[in-house]
Amino acid sequence: MKTFSFILCLFFFSTAHAYTVHGKKWGDPTFGTGATVSYSFMTGGQTCDTATCSSLDSFMPSGFQEQIKKAFNAWSSVANLHFEEVADDGAEFNATTNSGDIRIGGESIDGKSHVLAHAYYPSNNYSAAGDIHFDTSETWAIDNLVDGISIFWVALHEIGHSLGLGHSDASKSVMGPYYNPSLSGLQPDDIAGIQYLYGANISAVPVPAAFWLLGSALIGLCGIRRKTPHYN
Ligand SMILES: [Zn+2]
Repeated sequence: MKTFSFILCLFFFSTAHAYTVHGKKWGDPTFGTGATVSYSFMTGGQTCDTATCSSLDSFMPSGFQEQIKKAFNAWSSVANLHFEEVADDGAEFNATTNSGDIRIGGESIDGKSHVLAHAYYPSNNYSAAGDIHFDTSETWAIDNLVDGISIFWVALHEIGHSLGLGHSDASKSVMGPYYNPSLSGLQPDDIAGIQYLYGANISAVPVPAAFWLLGSALIGLCGIRRKTPHYN
């Protein structure tokens, strides 16, 4: 297994006024070019980061796959992206694998609330790039968002990281640093960011000029946090 370091994305980008990009993307590294990205659902049992990885069906309600596919579709509907689901081969976390570019699983991150999930930025240098881990301690939900955390919304946010977007401080952005399911879909700032990285899809709007580029070579890990009761 390769060793790598990661950073938590919190207010590190607080001087930006809109979306941020990490600096790497899938496919051709040239910004504005499309990509085909595969994903798979982990079988569980591997050691992810420091904890045991779980399959999503071991702690999420049935129908979770449709919610996650809906989140992928939201991104591909506005950008030149194509997602393909492939079978997960059960390889160890961050090992050479025929599984998806984005492997999706669960992990005990920090107990209930606080960090809800995290994702790795794209990279050609390590297999875990793009992977998403949902916190197994949360109450994940499809419809009952009073008591539960929206699978769709968190997937939408984390996939944004998996595709190369950092956090945004736009007033309305799914890529903001906090859980905000009142934003029911991608916002103009999110769409501008993903189109900067991959270009628009055929029917989407032009790429805007304003962006902030974080030209860092750091391998990144970005988590979404729930605003209550507190965070650090
Ligand atoms: Zn995040």
